[in-house]
Amino acid sequence: MCGIVGYFGSKDGMGAVVEGLKRLEYRGYDSWGLAARTDRKILIHKEIGKIGSFNLKKDLPNFGGKICIGHTRWATHGGVTAINSHPHLSCDGRIAVVHNGIVENYQELRAALEKKGHKFKSQTDTEVIAHLIEQELRTKKNIVEAVRSALKKIEGSFALGIIDRENDILIGARYASPLVLGIAKDEFYLGSDVPAFLKYANQVVFLDEREMVVLSHGKSGNAQFDLMNIDSGKKIKAKITKIKWSAEEAEKGGHPHFMIKEMLEQPLVIRKTAATEKEELEKAAALIKKAKRVFVVACGTALHAGIYGSYLLAKRNNIMVQPISAGELSYFSHLFKKGDLVITVSQSGETADVLEAVRSAHKAGAKVLALVNVLGSSLMRAADRSILTKAGSEICVLSTKAYISQQAMFAMLSGALNGETAKMKKSLLEVADAIEKIIEKKNLGKIKTLAKKLSKVPNLYGLGRSLNYANSLESCLKIKEVSYIHAEGFAGGDLKHGPIALIEKDVPVMVFATPDSTEKEIVSNAMEVKARGAFVIGISFQNNSVYEEFLPVTDLGDLTPIAAIVYTQLLAYYLALEKKLDPAKPTHLANGVTVN
Ligand code: GLU
Repeated sequence: MCGIVGYFGSKDGMGAVVEGLKRLEYRGYDSWGLAARTDRKILIHKEIGKIGSFNLKKDLPNFGGKICIGHTRWATHGGVTAINSHPHLSCDGRIAVVHNGIVENYQELRAALEKKGHKFKSQTDTEVIAHLIEQELRTKKNIVEAVRSALKKIEGSFALGIIDRENDILIGARYASPLVLGIAKDEFYLGSDVPAFLKYANQVVFLDEREMVVLSHGKSGNAQFDLMNIDSGKKIKAKITKIKWSAEEAEKGGHPHFMIKEMLEQPLVIRKTAATEKEELEKAAALIKKAKRVFVVACGTALHAGIYGSYLLAKRNNIMVQPISAGELSYFSHLFKKGDLVITVSQSGETADVLEAVRSAHKAGAKVLALVNVLGSSLMRAADRSILTKAGSEICVLSTKAYISQQAMFAMLSGALNGETAKMKKSLLEVADAIEKIIEKKNLGKIKTLAKKLSKVPNLYGLGRSLNYANSLESCLKIKEVSYIHAEGFAGGDLKHGPIALIEKDVPVMVFATPDSTEKEIVSNAMEVKARGAFVIGISFQNNSVYEEFLPVTDLGDLTPIAAIVYTQLLAYYLALEKKLDPAKPTHLANGVTVN
């Protein structure tokens, strides 16, 4: 996955494109590149690594134009080299393309184009798009028709920004990768997401699957946009949405990293979730009630939230929900049938495996309910019903506030299923207060001290049961993602079936206790690992002599895990800082995996 930005207007837009790329770096930072059209020339600049400290005015003072595109890459096809960086050009240098996605049939297309004499410079799948458009231009009457015709030949996914040396035009197009058009006075922006250009434009059009937008100058000389369907070429009436988040909301708000900013926002996230409209919840709850079988399909952190949801619905609503990792779903999806409900959970709403799950559910006649954080995302539009989780824009690659917003939304659904929406809302407000206590300064100091103590350990484990099982997985995922300490979470009941063999002197074990009948059992597990030398960290509503380090959480009943996880998110962050790692740039990871 990667980020793309575009500008079309009457002034030099390169500054805005570079700014946009810096905001999109969370989507990939293997390399970056720019293209600008000026005086019927296309200027190109590419660099390996992060765009972070690049200063356009200082580093490339004469580079710019009124039509510009930019790209920050997360390589899928072809190594991380300057040549493989986008934008990619046609042989004649007329067409420049930036691309997010994968051209699945690029090998066939490339071979056919090479036969026709096209010379390729890179190893990427993307470069075929530039050559294909060049080829189509030989027979089609104009650039728009050539682009449409080329895109019809492409299999796979794409969000594209395309410029043409010979025309005053910028074309955006999408299928299965996100693209948003930003509208400002006499100028337009393209972005993989809204924060890429929010500072300049807050009226947006979320392009739908197989839509294309053509930015050009009309007869009067004013910039205009035309939205159309790629396949039919038919014009589409654009639905303009006004974005209410401020640009600052997408900024770090004075914190050194988005990760800490986003963790500290969690009380607000919970309060916003508690305010979810009753009617919206009831409609989603009705889908769950009506379903013959319910599955929850998601990846990574979102899957962990789904696991919490499945325990919650089993315990409080007597509903069996089967969690399945979206990446493994294709081995089960042939068993979906009419009457099934697939609950999909995703922060970005662009996760390729989750979108695939929607397609297979629909193919079988099953219904899809989405818990998704990004308005206008592919998942939101593909699902039969969706509920927006209330995390707000999550910039950090590591998901923190989105996780608790997903857990909290499952809690609201559980409340709605029992006709107790108002009661659940009240309980969630208590969760917000409990998190408020956890993120108090003195507590942060305590977690920093613990991080210092643990920063040299090679292994670390998490243990939880029932509603806290998901937290044992999620706490360890966060720790390994950001601090690279090997961390694994286990269910308390599984301990004796293997994992206990890993326990040795001083190995830290985080034990999550739920305030119900499982507490005694998890305390017994804590005893068992302590007897073998483990350093036991208790994250619980009440202290116990078995805990060598105790992190207290308010007793919030079944919602206690939502507050408890905040401790380990913070621990993960401070472990990274202790190890002098950058929490904003975890190795090999990107936010929202838009390729399978
Ligand atoms: N497939 C393209 C490349 O590897 C784009 C990758 C992406 O969208 O992350 O260059």
